[in-house]
Amino acid sequence: MASYHRKPVVIEATRWFRNGDHPEDDREAFQTKRGEPFLGDGKVVRYYRNPDIPSCSQCATCRHEMDIHGWIETFEGGHIVCPGDWIITGIMGEHYPCKPHVFEATYEPEGDPDAEIDEAGKDDAPERTARD
Ligand SMILES: [Zn+2]
Repeated sequence: MASYHRKPVVIEATRWFRNGDHPEDDREAFQTKRGEPFLGDGKVVRYYRNPDIPSCSQCATCRHEMDIHGWIETFEGGHIVCPGDWIITGIMGEHYPCKPHVFEATYEPEGDPDAEIDEAGKDDAPERTARD
């Protein structure tokens, strides 16, 4: 059997912490019946909603409450987006989530190999619960 290596590929990615974070979300502005403004779903990352899972329940992966999660449709189906996950834009323009430890082990900033992965917004990540 012959050996192969992946062709180098440059991807674009943005780190997601809350609804509206993705630059392509382009959310629509609405008003409630009482005139309060609110923003609709993002076009890339939507609000996480599951009628079978209470929004206050804890994520099995990151332990944050489910109501601060997002949802993304990929070629392989829908995925939950945890706060802090990276959203990668693939070569077909598709979007998919990537856990931070996988992203940092797999990718480095294009151009400057010594540059750090952009951690912007990390300090704004929701606090973990006291149970962690
Ligand atoms: Zn999570």
